Amino acid sequence: MRVLVVEDEQHLAEGLRFNLEAEGFEVTVRDNGEDALAAFTGASAPFDLLILDVMLPGIDGFEVIRRLRDERHYLPTLILTARGRPDDVVKGIAAGADDYLAKPFDLGVLIARIKSLLRRRQWSAEKAALPPNQTVINGRRIDFNTLEIEVDGERQPLTVMEANLLRYLLEREGQPVSRAEILDKVWQVQSDTDTRAIDNFIVRLRKYLETDPTHPECLLTVRGVGYRLNRV
Ligand code: CA
Repeated sequence: MRVLVVEDEQHLAEGLRFNLEAEGFEVTVRDNGEDALAAFTGASAPFDLLILDVMLPGIDGFEVIRRLRDERHYLPTLILTARGRPDDVVKGIAAGADDYLAKPFDLGVLIARIKSLLRRRQWSAEKAALPPNQTVINGRRIDFNTLEIEVDGERQPLTVMEANLLRYLLEREGQPVSRAEILDKVWQVQSDTDTRAIDNFIVRLRKYLETDPTHPECLLTVRGVGYRLNRV
């Protein structure tokens, strides 16, 4: 795995190089945005992952990620933002970043985030190769033809309603979906029905989908609204 680190603080850049190399990554370091962009010219996919500081001399990290996405470089990108600047996070995600860490950060956390980003990419590659009517959520393969979910190599059946709800949430991936909407559109029941029924249903789905159902990462509760699905 080849990682490009773009960081102008030399001690931090060298610390990142040392720790990433210890994890088996092949590391390239650039200390400004222009040189970072130049490292992409001529090769279609020279790196597998980008760690990008936002505050750089010359063009900033936002501009680097924006230009890379314009040039169709979709490599997973984690930006390093200044603490207490939530606007930077929003700007970074809007520019095309996949994840962020606020400085100063723990190197162990950074390594864990990187591995998670790389896993996510692997899953979406698998997803692209899947036959129609199959999808992957959090590494679990779901077959909407046979109504099965594969968890740790074991196939478990899904009910039609479970499958229908998953499909509905997948079509609205990343958006909050209200309980009333689920009742109306998925279950086709009147919305004055007790919506708590859905909560029990979600508890069951979390057992299939989540690594730790008590700390959901895919099927999230949106307080006061309903639920939101992320593939992770
Ligand atoms: Ca900097």
